[in-house]
Parts: sequence; structure tokens; C-alpha cells
Amino acid sequence: MNGASGTRNLRSVEEQLARVLDAVRVLGAETLDVADAAGRTLAESVTAAHDIPLFDNSAMDGFAVRAADVAGASPESPVSLRVVADLPAGVSADPALGAGDAARIMTGSPAPTDADAIVPFEDTAGGLADSLREVRVLRAPAQPGAFIRRRGADLRAGDELVPAGDRIGPFQVAAAVAAGVSVVTLARAPRVAVVSTGSELLAPGEAPARGRIPDSNGPLLEQLVGGAGAEVVLAARIPDDAHAVTEVTAQALERGADVIVFTGGVSAGAYEPVRSAFDGGGEIEFVPVAMQPGKPQAFGVLGAGCLVFGLPGNPVSVAVSFEVFVRPALLAMQGRTDIHRPLAPFTADTPWTTPPGRRQYLPAVVDVAARTVRPATAGGSGSHLAGGLARARAFAIVPAEVDAVAVGDAIDVMLVE
Ligand code: AMP
Ligand code: MG
Repeated sequence: MNGASGTRNLRSVEEQLARVLDAVRVLGAETLDVADAAGRTLAESVTAAHDIPLFDNSAMDGFAVRAADVAGASPESPVSLRVVADLPAGVSADPALGAGDAARIMTGSPAPTDADAIVPFEDTAGGLADSLREVRVLRAPAQPGAFIRRRGADLRAGDELVPAGDRIGPFQVAAAVAAGVSVVTLARAPRVAVVSTGSELLAPGEAPARGRIPDSNGPLLEQLVGGAGAEVVLAARIPDDAHAVTEVTAQALERGADVIVFTGGVSAGAYEPVRSAFDGGGEIEFVPVAMQPGKPQAFGVLGAGCLVFGLPGNPVSVAVSFEVFVRPALLAMQGRTDIHRPLAPFTADTPWTTPPGRRQYLPAVVDVAARTVRPATAGGSGSHLAGGLARARAFAIVPAEVDAVAVGDAIDVMLVE
């Protein structure tokens, strides 16, 4: 099949994705320790439990002073102050400062209520030496409040830190903890079963034999599912046997799967167990989609509301189909605001060909600094070239109507790492 005649009955990627997203129901919420929340989606916004900073504190190692006392200080006429307290990190003391008094203070320590500026060590004659009896100030603070970090300057109690629908990552965990938040409300992680079909498949590490290949799709999907904030509740490898598909489906439903992802066995060959098990039942639709790789797609909803994806078995097809259909669904189930990876224009630095009438998703090597893109596989766009995936950090996306990419062409790139 080639050219217009081979592409006429294909469904567009957009339409297939719209059908998938139509079937998605947002899962319920659960509370979790914020330290365990990274990678997940917030069901409720996170608001600060207390101010950041929590108290007025010093931005420098130096001396807390009354600014008026040292307003006239200069290298020619230093001002001497009595050091009446020492305030290392962690102290709670709030020493009174009378006229001519100073307190030695370290960065982050609470600034005395009576102080209205910090003079850093660099602006004193003795610096750290002798600093517990007397200090000679060489330069007046630039303005009132100099080097005092004010309570609540960053964030006030009750302020929103992260809105509902956002992913919580390491930075958000840190900000929440800094604002006194210990528990967050997250969308429940979708429970996912990943099932590799194929009588040729070996467990990773099993001795190779003629006709047999390692099951790389299983580990690929387990990683991708985890990266989308979902939980793998079943990982299985089954032979090309429709009964095995039915059995593993029952097992996945028993484990409460919200989603089952099959790989392999969906196209029109002689031994296609996913097609044999589900085709004609009316729940799962088998449809060619105008993309390359990933043309044969299966998708549907089982009675209890479990989404079923049947992805074509080639490893590159699985990687692409996951990005295009499965990941957006897993994120939408979590109520994620932004379910799509951003696209950015890069420049092709080598020519390549693309299939007529189908959108190409090509595993690609990118030079992010130079904004250039090239195929990851020397052998072209073959969906069986699992080794090339090792070099890919992105997909180059070429529209269906383009047949060839020339050096210098602007190409949309989806960064996936
Ligand atoms: P299928 O979609 O079942 O016709 O498979 C297409 C191609 O992908 C065949 O060459 C399979 O051997 C290969 N394949 C299928 N499943 C896997 C898997 N889990 N890991 C690696 N390759 C696979
Ligand atoms: Mg197969």
C-alpha cells in the first residue's frame, strides 16, 4: 500500500486521540506525604501553611545594628559599636540593642527586633576577628533594612504555591516543605497493566535462540508508565493465543487496572491474539491511523470502564504510540492541566525521507544548543530498529503532506527526556 490509495481510509492522529480522551474519566484523589509526591498530579492546589521567610533574618554574616548609629561611618571615620550578643544559626534569642550596640549574626539567624540593618563583615575593620567585643564599622548601610530578609517577603501563609492540575516535581516538593506543608492531595495514580504479546518473546536476559527475541516492550512501557505518574499493577508476557489475552485481561481487572496496554498482535497477520480476542466484540476498535510508525491501533473501554490500548509490537511503534495516545490519557485521568509535551522548531542537519500520507514520528538525536535534529537510526525510519532508540532523546514530527526533509528545513521536535 502506497500513496493516496493506501492512506485514504486512515484516521487522523487528532481524531484517534480525541476518541481516547473522550473515554477518559478523571480518577479520585488521595492524600500523600509531600516527600512521596514527586511525579504526581495535584488534585487540590498547595497553599503555604506559613510565611517564607518565617521571621526577619540576616542575609549576610556580619552585625545586626541600629542603622542610625552607623549612618556616618566611613573608612576615614569608622564607628565603633559594642557587640552584646552572638547569633549563630538556630538561636531564638532576640537581644535588646541600645544606642551603640550590635549583635554578631550569621546568615539566616533571626534579626533582633531592635536592629534595622545588617553590616556585613566585609564592611568592618576587624571582620570575623575580635568580633565578639567591639566592631568598627567602615561603611554605612546603603539603606534602611539593608541585608535583612523580611518575614513573608517570598510568600505569605495562605498563598497558592502550586495550582491543582500541575505536576509536582522536586522544586515544588522543596517549596511546599519550606512553606510548612507536609501532606498534599493528589490524583490517584492510574493503575496500569502492561502486556507483551508474542510467542517469540524472551524474558530480559534469557538465552537467545533462533526465532526468539527479548521482550523489550515490557520494560519500555513499565518505565514510561511510571514516568507518567501511573503505577504498574501487572506486567505480563503472553504467547500468541487469544485465550491468554482473555485470561490476562481478567487478571488485570482483578488487580483494579484502570488501563491495560497490550503490545503486538493488533495488525492483520495470521496470529494476532489481541485482535482475535477482542475484534467483533464491539468494545475495542481496531483502526489504521495516519502515522508512521504506529499505524495499526486498537483502543476501547471494557465494561467496568478500563481503557484498553493495543499498540503495534515494533519497539519504536510502542514508544511513539505511548507518547501520542497513552501518555496523554494517563495524564488526563489525573486531571493534569497540560497533557501534551511541548513542540519546538529545530533545523534538520541531514536529509531523510518520510512516508506519503502519514505523519512521521521519527526517533531523533537533537543538539539542543544548536537547535538541530537528525534521525537516531542510521537505517532510516524502520520501526523495528530498537537499537536506535538508545540514541533518541526526541521525536521529529513531519506532517503527512511532506515526502522528504532537506537540510535546513524547520522540523517540529518533541523532546521526551
Ligand atoms: P506484531 O505487532 O505482533 O506483529 O509485532 C511486530 C514486530 O514487533 C515483530 O517483529 C515482533 O517480533 C516485534 N515485537 C513484538 N512485541 C515485541 C516486544 N515485546 N519486544 C520486542 N519486539 C517485539
Ligand atoms: Mg506479534
